[in-house]
Amino acid sequence: MTPSPRLLITIDYESWFAPSRRYDFLPPETRFRLDNETSRHALDPILGIFGGSKTTFYLVGEMVGWYPELPDKIFKAGHEVGFHCHIHRRLDDVKEIEKDLNASAEWIQRYNARGYRAPMINTVEEAYPLLAKHNFLYSSSQYAPAGAAVRKANVWEVPVSTLPLLKFPAELIAPRHMNLKLVARGEFPYGSSFTVGLFRKLVYKIIERDFKAGKSPVIFLHPYEIFTPKGYPQNFMVDMLHHPLLFPFTYNKSNFLKDLLKNFPTSTMQDYVKDL
Ligand SMILES: [Zn+2]
Repeated sequence: MTPSPRLLITIDYESWFAPSRRYDFLPPETRFRLDNETSRHALDPILGIFGGSKTTFYLVGEMVGWYPELPDKIFKAGHEVGFHCHIHRRLDDVKEIEKDLNASAEWIQRYNARGYRAPMINTVEEAYPLLAKHNFLYSSSQYAPAGAAVRKANVWEVPVSTLPLLKFPAELIAPRHMNLKLVARGEFPYGSSFTVGLFRKLVYKIIERDFKAGKSPVIFLHPYEIFTPKGYPQNFMVDMLHHPLLFPFTYNKSNFLKDLLKNFPTSTMQDYVKDL
């Protein structure tokens, strides 16, 4: 079945330092201290912006440990609670993915999280049978043209949206992450908040076009792009100077989000997948 078109806005709920790889292997208590409750305080304003529009939040497990009320509030507001990772880092080794899943198993079960979004939208084919074993219904861990969806090992892959400028990819084999190869193949990854940061108006137009064509674009934003944390982005300056490509992640995109919510119907990813 082709689901009715809608905009699938998703939130990868992670701390402000997550775009930089410099924090991945710090002791967990150091990341907790660096987060300094910013992720706790961002949730209410973000839920306020969404109002009655439904979305999916992919949570970082260690953060659920820091602020156990997060999944509860998201669930009670009628949104979907999904799983991003337990500790935010590159996860493309199946053994590491399983360890990561097990570390968050308790809250995944409690909130019946059945959607997975790999960190950096970067996963491997072996992840799908593993997700099936852990009762996941779908993953959104590749980049591919809006409207594409494939089933692997009984798990749907509903990719983050790209606009194919040359040709539609013949098959979706992980990894399909954002890199020069993807862009060189002619795909414009407009579903990424990085792209939104650089080409806000263009992304809006593409969303409009794909929606009118009956497709359901998948885009992601981060909490720190909607509700600017205290001391940010000054505390991220060193990372940005070393990696200027991090800049677009620090732009506030709350007005962009409000525009989208005003003009497009939305649903959770899970409701969309159930219509596939
Ligand atoms: Zn992430």
